[in-house]
Amino acid sequence: MNRISETTDIPVGISACVMGEEVRFNGGHSQSRICQNQLAKHFKFQPFCPEVAAGFGIPRPTMRLTGDPANPTLIFSKPPSENAGDPEKDPGNPQLHDLSKQLTDACQPMLDRCEQLDGFILKKDSPSCGMERVKIYQPSGHPHEERGAGLFARELMQRYPNLPIEEDGRLNDAQLRENFVMRVFAHHNFRTEVAGQPSFHNLLQFHSSYKYLLMAHNQTAYRELGKMLAVAHNEPLDALLKTYQQQFMSAINTPASRGSHCNVMQHIMGYLKQSVESSARQDILNVFEQYRLGEVNLITPMTLLSHYINQNGSEYIRAQRYLEPYPPHLGLRNQV
Ligand code: SF4
Repeated sequence: MNRISETTDIPVGISACVMGEEVRFNGGHSQSRICQNQLAKHFKFQPFCPEVAAGFGIPRPTMRLTGDPANPTLIFSKPPSENAGDPEKDPGNPQLHDLSKQLTDACQPMLDRCEQLDGFILKKDSPSCGMERVKIYQPSGHPHEERGAGLFARELMQRYPNLPIEEDGRLNDAQLRENFVMRVFAHHNFRTEVAGQPSFHNLLQFHSSYKYLLMAHNQTAYRELGKMLAVAHNEPLDALLKTYQQQFMSAINTPASRGSHCNVMQHIMGYLKQSVESSARQDILNVFEQYRLGEVNLITPMTLLSHYINQNGSEYIRAQRYLEPYPPHLGLRNQV
């Protein structure tokens, strides 16, 4: 198992404008400082602009989604000016300007490459890249109440339901950022340690190392995955890995609450019963309580716990990814 702090080249896709490339319709960018300054230290970003790939050019007219919210169409927000007013070229039928196929066809090579990625960061609100809440317009020009995903994002999510995907704007939220980065590392670990060298033994090792992290995020999935593996040794491996990964990634999809973290930290404390004297144990429990009440952030109890686990913990407990799910110097536990 690689030390997580040494991992520096996790492949993650990103909307090119979020990476700072000047590919927006107006020739600008939407650079994210979090991606540029913090995440780029460990993620090897692979920028992609669906609209440039589709040949729409820079600058280009703005685009929007229109029609059926369940299956929207990409069109120019206004017909290209050279056609405006020409009844033959611009008869007012938005279908004439349907850009959906041109865009989705151009995205296919990138979508194929996404099999080798461990996450994707998308630009919010874009009719191509937006992950959710993208406006879909009615023929009247007013948006439907129902929102949707941009066309590239939609295909990405359908094809790779286990891939951690987040929007640039949501990464400003410390909890969502922490959860996204944790999922990217978990996806990477599964892809390289289990899917890349498939065996029941490797799956068990992976599961064992993620036990407490799973417990913090979803107690039900933690129990069910444990039960599933207990009787799965004769199952066809391909199907087992697929089911396991799907249930595992979905279980860690939402941030763990302070209460869940406290519960897990108390479980881990059980491993220190014999080796840490009771007054020190009480001090640690007091810090857990401060964390539960929101007086300190997760880094405080985790640093204390990790200190004692590193000194006195068994190999099994020291190998728990919960203690270090991503490189500590990212500072993500300082903020949640
Ligand atoms: S949001 Fe997507 S399509 Fe639009 S400029 Fe950024 S990368 Fe290109």
